[in-house]
Amino acid sequence: MAKRLVIVGAGDGGVMLANRLASKGFDITVIDKSNKHYFQPWLLHIAFNGAKEKSIEQTKLLPKNSRFMLDTVKLVDLENRKIVLSNSEMDYDYVVVDTGSFGDYSKIPGHMQLYQEFGDFHSTTEAAQRLWKKASTFAGGKAIIGSTYPIFKCPPSPLEAAFLFEELTRKRHVRSQTQITFITPFPRAYPAEPMNEIVEPIMKERGINIVTFFDVESIDPAKHTITSLEGDTLQYDFAALVPPHVGAGIVKDFCDENGFVKTDKETLQIGNFDDAYCIGDATNISTSKSGVTAHLESKIVAQRLLGIDARFDGRTNCPMEVGGHKATFVIGSYTQPVVKLKPSTFNYFLKMGMKYGAWQTLRTKMDFVMDWYFARTDPAKLNAKLNKQKSS
Ligand SMILES: Cc1cc2nc3c(=O)[nH]c(=O)nc-3n(C[C@H](O)[C@H](O)[C@H](O)COP(=O)(O)OP(=O)(O)OC[C@H]3O[C@@H](n4cnc5c(N)ncnc54)[C@H](O)[C@@H]3O)c2cc1C
Repeated sequence: MAKRLVIVGAGDGGVMLANRLASKGFDITVIDKSNKHYFQPWLLHIAFNGAKEKSIEQTKLLPKNSRFMLDTVKLVDLENRKIVLSNSEMDYDYVVVDTGSFGDYSKIPGHMQLYQEFGDFHSTTEAAQRLWKKASTFAGGKAIIGSTYPIFKCPPSPLEAAFLFEELTRKRHVRSQTQITFITPFPRAYPAEPMNEIVEPIMKERGINIVTFFDVESIDPAKHTITSLEGDTLQYDFAALVPPHVGAGIVKDFCDENGFVKTDKETLQIGNFDDAYCIGDATNISTSKSGVTAHLESKIVAQRLLGIDARFDGRTNCPMEVGGHKATFVIGSYTQPVVKLKPSTFNYFLKMGMKYGAWQTLRTKMDFVMDWYFARTDPAKLNAKLNKQKSS
């Protein structure tokens, strides 16, 4: 009898895993609380360029021989191989958790009101459209953009937001009346030093102020102020902040205090269970929470479920737009520092290409291109090349 594989969460990782295993003899069920799949990187362009949403029905991405269930998973009980849904329970032979990460606006007093007033570029289409309304009518004043807490998906996204907003103020001829401040809890604008050496000079050149070690403690929506744990207060007329992120917290006994699943960073197993895995943003692994990570992890878990001892090397490959039709990629791994890769127009078009190829990538139809690209941008090779150039 075919082994019953249940994938909890039809995120980027879950959809790719289902497609990878579609013809490998598994009986696949995919459960998601939403029947729509959103291309999340596009939220930035909805918020700062007024672009339209990019989404698709989950069943159009999943393989025909898999079963899609529209339901919310309440609990995954690994000891008893049980999945608890809204009104029922189910058993499995293998389970893979791919429930992603999302903003928790209750962690910072006042954040929910700020979110209701300004929206953001990190959660839903409606929130991004709300931000676009504010950004596209902003007449000048103090703008604050950044992250509130060190854990969030897509590490480059707050910087991308600052660059795109700055570009918008120039297009709208309100740049000279606008003061842009980028806040971050990290010691530098981008946490990885080699990438910071690339982005900080661009920020300075564009007149974006950087405030580091700014851990947001509270927001006062009436006074329009943001206060840090250190006691500093900043005034805003426009604010776009990434909220602290949490996981779904549904795996019994195996979630950390933020709801992320305790996952082995190489095998991607949950605890010592050889029938339970976690991929994508839902893990507590300290690598970047990104679609590319979910993509690469789905490959590892597919191989492991087929009996191959594949291991994840922590590879990241996050695009970062810096405005002016240029982008770089944050490329690194567990053993390789982030590559100091200069922004280029070529990389911008690669990033934009991801929008058009997104659904085919999730259906794993683009694997041959992606595999070639990942091999070409191997961080060990790129770092060796840069070091050679430096020393010659
Ligand atoms: C503004 C922005 C820009 C980004 N840009 C990039 C980029 O350029 N490149 C890149 O690689 N990544 C980017 N990302 C990150 C990327 O979108 C995510 O990291 C990626 O989608 C994570 O995939 P995932 O499979 O882990 O989870 P997700 O794709 O987030 O999916 C999780 C799924 O789980 C479901 N779910 C959650 N809880 C339950 C439950 N209890 N029961 C049932 N279903 C549940 C949700 O409905 C959702 O469908 C960006 C993100 C944002 C917000």
